Amino acid sequence: MSFDLQKLLRPHILGIKPYSSARDEYSGKDGIFLDANENPYSALTGEAFNRYPDPYQQDIKATLAPIKGVRPGQIFLGNGSDEAIDLLMRAFCRPGIDNILILPPTYGMYEVSAAVNDIAIIRVPLLADFQLQPEKILAAADANSKILFICSPNNPSGNKVNRSDIEFLLKNFPGLVVVDEAYIDFSDEPSFTTDLDSYPNLLVMQTFSKAWGLANLRIGMAFASEDIIRILNLIKPPYNISGLTQQKVLDSLAKADELPRLIQMILENRALLVQELNQLDSVQHIYPSHANFVLVKIKEAKAWYEALIQQQIIVRDRSKVLLCDDCLRITVGTAEENQALLDCMKTIEQSQKISLNL
Ligand SMILES: *Cc1c(COP(=O)(O)O)cnc(C)c1O
Repeated sequence: MSFDLQKLLRPHILGIKPYSSARDEYSGKDGIFLDANENPYSALTGEAFNRYPDPYQQDIKATLAPIKGVRPGQIFLGNGSDEAIDLLMRAFCRPGIDNILILPPTYGMYEVSAAVNDIAIIRVPLLADFQLQPEKILAAADANSKILFICSPNNPSGNKVNRSDIEFLLKNFPGLVVVDEAYIDFSDEPSFTTDLDSYPNLLVMQTFSKAWGLANLRIGMAFASEDIIRILNLIKPPYNISGLTQQKVLDSLAKADELPRLIQMILENRALLVQELNQLDSVQHIYPSHANFVLVKIKEAKAWYEALIQQQIIVRDRSKVLLCDDCLRITVGTAEENQALLDCMKTIEQSQKISLNL
């Protein structure tokens, strides 16, 4: 399948002249800066936040590129992955005309972003084991299908998606294929970031929100061909990542060699959590997880959800979601948090506080 980026884009995008910021027109670091209407004094707190940040986050990209095995020009950074999702829809999908494909049950933001942008959604459900139906996906696509969103490891099911299915779709889907790897650091599956040069229609999303522990900063990554990244840079708000966020991300990247230990701790907590949850009579199934959460099939999921809330333990009730009947999604916490959850569940089960029908 030949991939023609120009043809896939909304036609007017190619004619857009980018906003030229003061930092675009002069990017040197030294001098007397009287070009951006900034305040020459520090903020009231004394902190030096008075200057606009680097609009292209070049220091982060230079550090990140070798870690991810890509070139700096293949990286886009957004205000969360959610910004990349929204920008992709605005770049490729004509409101009221084009559509995206999603594979439920999956991450909710694809749908929300499509709705906001008035883009139709074609849904091709996953199988009962949460794997893809590649032929059905191709059959469902039409001439106006612009983006296919594949989430692997998938949220809320936690499984990794068969690599051969993703490769088949990269070769055959007529539009852009987004592989959302928000949870890839918790998986033994290699990332698709190193396959960018083989697939011009591939965009890989990752995030600093999960394994890196920086959800509060709001910063997500997108990796794709330089041509696609140029489009995202063209239409993004100029200063989409604050300078404070950039600094904090750089501080974390400087300690990247400690990340595997942090991840390992969560994986160990996950293994223990799964083992202990399996001891509970109400737990019917725990789906294999390649993420920092587990999907748990449990009798009376909604009653469990509410009973746990009563004890100020908050999990996610997914029981109304396609293929997730009777399921709770439980994020792996600290060893202490997980123990508190398990103690609470044991107590509830023993005291039959809720009707479990055991
Ligand atoms: C958490 C999550 C993200 C991350 O979103 P951010 O906006 O970067 O915090 C992206 N995709 C999926 C599937 C997620 O679960």
